[in-house]
Amino acid sequence: MRRAIVRPPWSPPRAISGFNCRARASSTSAHQHSPRRHHGDRERRRHDHDVVPLLAKQPLHPLSLADLVKHGRPPLSAEALLASARFTLSLLPIRLAHRIQALRNLPYIVVSNPNISKIYNNYQHSLSTLLPWQGRTISNLEDEIRFTEVLAELVQTHTDTIPILARGFLECRKYISPAEVTRFLDEHLRARIGTRLVAEQHIALHFSSTPHFDPSASPTPCPEHPSYIGVIDTALRPASTVDACGGFVADICELNYGVRPRWVVDGEPDTTFAFVPMHLEYIITELLKNAFRATVENGKSGEPVVITIAPEPPDVRPPSQQQVQVRLGPPHESRGAFARDAIAPLDDNAPGVTIRIRDRGGGISTDVLPHIWNYSFTTFNESDDDYMPGGRSPPSSSASWGNSYGTSDALSVISAASNGRSSIAGLGYGLPLSRAYAEYFGGGIAVQSLHGWGTDVYLRLKGVGKIE
Ligand code: ADP
Ligand code: MG
Repeated sequence: MRRAIVRPPWSPPRAISGFNCRARASSTSAHQHSPRRHHGDRERRRHDHDVVPLLAKQPLHPLSLADLVKHGRPPLSAEALLASARFTLSLLPIRLAHRIQALRNLPYIVVSNPNISKIYNNYQHSLSTLLPWQGRTISNLEDEIRFTEVLAELVQTHTDTIPILARGFLECRKYISPAEVTRFLDEHLRARIGTRLVAEQHIALHFSSTPHFDPSASPTPCPEHPSYIGVIDTALRPASTVDACGGFVADICELNYGVRPRWVVDGEPDTTFAFVPMHLEYIITELLKNAFRATVENGKSGEPVVITIAPEPPDVRPPSQQQVQVRLGPPHESRGAFARDAIAPLDDNAPGVTIRIRDRGGGISTDVLPHIWNYSFTTFNESDDDYMPGGRSPPSSSASWGNSYGTSDALSVISAASNGRSSIAGLGYGLPLSRAYAEYFGGGIAVQSLHGWGTDVYLRLKGVGKIE
């Protein structure tokens, strides 16, 4: 029974994650309803039983990292694993309902777009798989296995959300302003980080506890990684993440440009802290893609990108005086909305780490700089694919919006990204989404450009605190 669950590829310990999404046709006939089509008896009946407004009225549980680790280090006792499942079930339907309600609040013509509607249907479907569990208690391990299967399917269903949403909003550019899209995506994608974390945490605890409960099950590698509690690595070494991600991004550069940029790690590479490896891998990959791309396009492939790792001592000031979020981008109107959803660090004095990524890529011009935090903004053109370093002149650095809401180039780049082809840039989500991940645990990202010379990106991460 227990072995029936296929171990998901993203369970810890993971190799490099976050960039090997595969396009997946996720719709099933059970959830093909078009959103907000309020006509016909069938639709009316569906709405009679629509639990979304009720669930969406319930406040989001203010999550803390303490919640995620409170069930203890694996292998958990049976009771602790059941408690983790019950806790996860208590959070997810409300979180999904909030997202469905937010999608319903988009203009009708936007949510009718096939791509946005696909995401809407995915959420409806996921909620429908959880609703039968409400009102019952997960009281034995058989239940827990079946519930974990539901969670695994839920996480898989939403894997490709980002390129699909990106394509949808690009197609709807005539009907919704870039500011509205950014507002929606900022809230939606930050909420998605939390929802996935909650589901992935339970799945990871489940798998790392399996041998403890079922001696006949084939052993899983998780207990060999004692520093993990679910998806949190209590001894994460950022220098190792940088080297692993650097190799991956250099491969992409080689494919795109025929050049393999170099990088060096200095500072204090042996620093470790408690963090979610998947999140760090996503951020580092995106920042290195930007740094490598700029370096190559600026004809400076011989100059290494320098990554400096600096541990930070615990912040002993009172929380009201702590200024952890450094940002040079425009303030976000919607910050209040997602602030509710951010996960609090386990303790305010958690040691953190600052990672500076310094490139000689020529910096960011003043007309581009104000836009870099907008979802879908990119200066990458599809034709850059065959850019020859030192050959033709570098692509224009003028502010071309991929968001740009207008160029068919951007659409085809997104198409390439969603087809699983490794792309160095083009979605325009790298910086804003990396910032969302960094801010989730109270960190931040700041960009300093020295025009004509290069760019420094400061990634500040707050550790998740003491975990016994
Ligand atoms: P994408 O990489 O898909 O274009 P991002 O959000 O990662 O989207 O970056 C947005 C834009 O910011 C890039 O297109 C580029 O113009 C600019 N940018 C980001 N990082 C750098 C950098 N290190 N050097 C020069 N320009 C950069
Ligand atoms: Mg990028």
